[in-house]
Amino acid sequence: MTPALHLVEHPEVFVIGDAAYLEGPDGTPYPQVAQVAMQQGEHAARTVIDRLHGRPDRPFEYDDLGMMAVVGRNAAVARLFGRDIQGFVAWVLWLVIHVAKLIGFRNRALVLVNWAWNYISFRRAVRLLIVGTDGRSDRESAPRSI
Ligand SMILES: Cc1cc2nc3c(=O)[nH]c(=O)nc-3n(C[C@H](O)[C@H](O)[C@H](O)COP(=O)(O)OP(=O)(O)OC[C@H]3O[C@@H](n4cnc5c(N)ncnc54)[C@H](O)[C@@H]3O)c2cc1C
Repeated sequence: MTPALHLVEHPEVFVIGDAAYLEGPDGTPYPQVAQVAMQQGEHAARTVIDRLHGRPDRPFEYDDLGMMAVVGRNAAVARLFGRDIQGFVAWVLWLVIHVAKLIGFRNRALVLVNWAWNYISFRRAVRLLIVGTDGRSDRESAPRSI
């Protein structure tokens, strides 16, 4: 695929999000996260409009807004605007930013209700078991400091 997110032999076919492999200016591939997928979607749409107006394709440039991850109940880590934040404040920021980034009132309301229910009922929607190349889970491995 090209830096403008379309296939080399089929310029009318765009590849975006998790299906795309593209490297940034420093040579590292863009991560498979929602921000990349959303920005690539917007870029592909802009390219279509540019073509309709006879303008040339432009390469995709990722605007890294930061990273956030929930690491437990009421606990998250975040790197926003070059600052590291952790704990409850990072968790609240994670909730607010994720809901704000969703499209449409209905989606936001549904996600909020789901999250509220999971929070008060202690239900977890997704559980991941990390397994190493030796076949052992992270729980079986030696304790590591974080
Ligand atoms: C467990 C998990 C947790 C994650 N957590 C985060 C996170 O906290 N933050 C973050 O930024 N990213 C997270 N990600 C990554 C993020 O979800 C993806 O990077 C992002 O959703 C990619 O968007 P996409 O549009 O490329 O693909 P998707 O969001 O997967 O959308 C693809 C869509 O295409 C549909 N589809 C598939 N095949 C067909 C077909 N043949 N015909 C029609 N429709 C089809 C699928 O049903 C789906 O709706 C997480 C991913 C996983 C799996």
